Amino acid sequence: MNWEPWTGCYAASDGCANCYFYGPHAKRYGQNQITKTDKFDWPIRRNAKGEYNIKGGKILPTCFATDFFLPEADAWRAEAWAMIKERRDIDFLILTKRIDRFEASLPADWGDGYENVNIGCTVENQAFAEARLPLFLSYPIKRRFVACSPILEAIDLSAYLHGVEHVTVSGETGREARVCDYDWVLSLREQCVSKGLTFWFKGTGSLFRREGAAQRINPYKQGSLAKELDVSILDGKRLF
Ligand code: SF4
Repeated sequence: MNWEPWTGCYAASDGCANCYFYGPHAKRYGQNQITKTDKFDWPIRRNAKGEYNIKGGKILPTCFATDFFLPEADAWRAEAWAMIKERRDIDFLILTKRIDRFEASLPADWGDGYENVNIGCTVENQAFAEARLPLFLSYPIKRRFVACSPILEAIDLSAYLHGVEHVTVSGETGREARVCDYDWVLSLREQCVSKGLTFWFKGTGSLFRREGAAQRINPYKQGSLAKELDVSILDGKRLF
């Protein structure tokens, strides 16, 4: 289960070109309009017994079908932070392509960061790694990871992995998907090994190239094929 306090998004960078949430949903439901959802207060909503609907001890992917740091959500974010603070028993996982809006989006009591917030900075190519990661590393965040998703080329993260716990990589999905080359995945894995970080090859994407040959991969097999290749180093870690 994810928490989507608001919905809708629009492209921020190269990796967004074939975004499922932005593309088909935008066409079908006009989801490039940013609106609050009826699950806005989901983490603090209680059942008839007065218990939270969401039990503690969970990892809750947050804003995976939108972006937590969209300027259109500025008016709602203070309330979202307050809910995150109230539910210290849940780990909130926030992925963003808009890390440049991080500082302007913080609550007054953020300090060095909330313990239960894990921020993932998405970098799809080298240019965005170089633009986003120095900013990402300069901000007070207790728990950081990098998501190369969708990976669009070989990426050298070696200058940016200090202070990062984990790297996730996946290829692009959809009919128009750009290729994900296995060598790019293995290179990122090596970079994680050399820094002692955990690494998750989450999905091959729809167009996966291995040893020079590209093949189309069915959406239902992209995760299982990545798993079969057995290159993830999770050390018991579960991200989402
Ligand atoms: S920021 Fe994320 S949700 Fe928004 S369009 Fe880009 S890939 Fe899609």
